[in-house]
Amino acid sequence: MNALVTGVSAAGGLVFGDGIEIIVHRLGERRPLDRPWWRCEVCEAPATGVGQVPVLRVVARRRGCPSCAAPFKQTYRPAVLAALGALVLGAFAVRFGADVVLAAYAVFGLSMLAISAVDLERWIIPNHIIYPTLALLIPLFVIASAVDDRWGALGRAAASGAAAFAGFYLLHVAVPKGMGFGDVRLSGVIGLATGWLGYGHAFVAFFAGFVLGSLVGLVVIVVTGGDRKSRIPFGPFLAAGAIFSVIWGNPVAHALFHRTV
Ligand SMILES: [Zn+2]
Repeated sequence: MNALVTGVSAAGGLVFGDGIEIIVHRLGERRPLDRPWWRCEVCEAPATGVGQVPVLRVVARRRGCPSCAAPFKQTYRPAVLAALGALVLGAFAVRFGADVVLAAYAVFGLSMLAISAVDLERWIIPNHIIYPTLALLIPLFVIASAVDDRWGALGRAAASGAAAFAGFYLLHVAVPKGMGFGDVRLSGVIGLATGWLGYGHAFVAFFAGFVLGSLVGLVVIVVTGGDRKSRIPFGPFLAAGAIFSVIWGNPVAHALFHRTV
């Protein structure tokens, strides 16, 4: 049963991870999510043949548009998103098994990937992804709480989300250039989703995000010759910390606090 759940979840992660490219690209260009979904960015000719297949579409994109020969700006990103989607959702399925809450974390994982891709490219955390994510997550967590009478988890999720939002809001006010308001909204979503698993998980998520962001930030400063102005987007690190905590939060929180939290 669990092997089946993991397989289905990983396959879903692959297909939806691949599809995230459309959301990331169109939202970035401020264009509607209209059909044909996979098409040339210049002449709008729809993708044909292998260009319609997840992951394999890299082959077609490397060749450019079959109609006008224009190159694709993001040749590999759909395949990277598909691979990460399969990995993350597969790992979540191993973690949760056939638990109803897996649906909430599948949405959360895909949303974190989409937000990271947009933030890496354009330095924004789009409300057009944050708000639909919340609109899906909240009812999914309510359903998961109702099914197994886990209302305490829902309370911790709400408290963690509010606390993370408030904490990052203070950071944003203190250092507006270091922390955008998009990061504040994102932290609220991460606090909510990791807090459902426990306060320790929320702590591990942000702790891991800050450690990872600081390490990469240091490397960037060293590589660019000590220029402290060389900034990096923070969203992907918060997202990575959150995914890390959903998968490994239990053992890490246990090691940190010497008890299950
Ligand atoms: Zn074209």
